[in-house]
Amino acid sequence: MIQDWKMELYWRLPIFLQETALSAYVYHLDRIYYGLGYEEWRQKIMEMQKWSAADAKVWQAQKLQALVELAVAKVPYYREKWAGCPWKKVHSTQDLSVLPLVDKQAIRQNERYFIADGLETKNLWLQKTSGTTGTSLQIFWPMAMVPKWWAVVEVLVRNVAGVEKNLPRAMMGGRPIVRGKTSKPPFWRYNKWWKQLYLSSYHVSPKTAASYANALGSYGSQWITGYGSAIAALAESATEAGIDSLPLRVGIVSGDTLLPGMRNTIEKFFECKCLDHYGQSEGVCMAMECKEGRLHVIPWVGILEILREDGSPCEPGEVGEMVGTSLLNDAMPLIRYRLGDYAAWAINQKCECGNPHPIISKLEGRVDDFLITDDGRKIGRLSTAMKRSPSIHSAQIVQDRPGHAYLLVRPGNMYETSDSVAVREDILDRIGNFELEIVEVHEIPKTLQGKTPLVVRLDERPNMQGSYKQLLNKRELSFN
Ligand SMILES: [Zn+2]
Repeated sequence: MIQDWKMELYWRLPIFLQETALSAYVYHLDRIYYGLGYEEWRQKIMEMQKWSAADAKVWQAQKLQALVELAVAKVPYYREKWAGCPWKKVHSTQDLSVLPLVDKQAIRQNERYFIADGLETKNLWLQKTSGTTGTSLQIFWPMAMVPKWWAVVEVLVRNVAGVEKNLPRAMMGGRPIVRGKTSKPPFWRYNKWWKQLYLSSYHVSPKTAASYANALGSYGSQWITGYGSAIAALAESATEAGIDSLPLRVGIVSGDTLLPGMRNTIEKFFECKCLDHYGQSEGVCMAMECKEGRLHVIPWVGILEILREDGSPCEPGEVGEMVGTSLLNDAMPLIRYRLGDYAAWAINQKCECGNPHPIISKLEGRVDDFLITDDGRKIGRLSTAMKRSPSIHSAQIVQDRPGHAYLLVRPGNMYETSDSVAVREDILDRIGNFELEIVEVHEIPKTLQGKTPLVVRLDERPNMQGSYKQLLNKRELSFN
C-alpha cells in the first residue's frame, strides 16, 4: 500500500508540486462528492432530520423492501444464498432476521458476485477498506451514492458539531502524505480546494509538536478530524513540550477506539469538544456523537442491528456484534453485513439534544481485538478494561505468543503505575491464566493505515515486528 508506485512518484516531487498534485486530485473528488445531487440531498436530509423516529422507520422499511427485491432479482450472491429463504417476509427492520448474515470473507472471495446485473465496475465508485491485517476489500458504490453520503456527513456530522466544510480544517488520517524518513518540517501538505491542512500522523513527537502547532495557526485551521489516536498523540506531545493550548471549534474523530485519556488530552489542548463519529468505507451505517455525549445512529444511511453470537438481537445494554444494511447502495447491496465491531444499544434511549434516533453505547472495539490463551481460547472485548483509567493516554496489547503479551501504556496526565496495574488486573480477571507484562512507552506503533488497534498479534503482522522489536528491545521476543 505504502510502496504503491503512485506514492513513490508523489514523494519524488518537490513540495509545491506535491501540493499541486494533491489539490488537483481533491478538485476531482470535490466534483464527485459535492456535484450532481449533493445540494438536493443536503436539503432533503435537513428536512428528514425533523421527522420522528417512527417516520424514519417507515422510510427505512420502504427502502429495505425495494433493496431486498432488487437483491433477489439482480444480484447473483443473494439469488444463490437466499434460495429457499423466506425473503418475501421482509417488510421492515424486525423481519431482517430471516436473512443470512454476510461476512467480509464472502466479499473477499468474489466482490463482483455482489454487484447487480448489468453494471460495470468501471462506472462505479470504488471504496477500498483498510482491512485489519492489510487485506482490503473492494466495495463499489453507485456514483449517485457519493454525494448522498457527503450530504449526510455535512448535515449530520459536521453541522451537528458546529462546523461546515468551507471552514478551514486540519486532518490527521492514515495517508503517508510525508515520506517516513523526513526529519524536518513541513510534516503536512495543504489542499487549497478544501482549505484542508493534511497533517502527517507519522511524525508527531514532543520535538516536532511546535511545528505542527504553528502550522495549525498559520493555516487558520478551525477544526480537526481524523483518527482519535493520532490527534491525541499530537495533543499529548504538544502538552509534553509545554506548548500553549491551541483553541479550535471542535475535534471530530473516527477510525479507532477513542479511549477516555485520548478524549481528555484532545479537549484540553484544543480547548474544544471531541466528538466521536462512527462510519466505515463500506458505507453501510453511520453514527455521530451529539453535544450531550451520546452516539446517535443516522437512519438515512443504513439499518444497524446488534446481535448475539447466536444471531438473536441484543437487549439494551448488552454488547454484541454490529451488523449493517446499507440503504444507499443499490449497485452492490450489502444486506446484514457483519461490520466486525462491537457495541450495545444504550439503556436510556432519550436524549436532551432532541435527536430521536437510536443511541448506541459502549463502542467496544473490533471483533479482531482478541488474545489467544495457551490453551487456545480467544478472549475479546477487552476495551472496557482498557478504558478504565483515564490517566492512560493510550494503550495496546501486543501478543507475541499464546498465553503471553505486553500491555503497552502511554502515560497521560496524572498517570501512576498503579493505573496500569489496575487495567492489567481487569484484563486478567477476564482471561485467567495469562502473562501480561506492563511496558510504559512514549509512543504506540501504528499500522500501515495509521491506526492503533487495541490488540496486535505479531504473527499476523510481519511488517510490524520490526517496530515492536525496537520498542521492546531489552526483552526476549519469541518471534523471529
Ligand atoms: Zn443526543
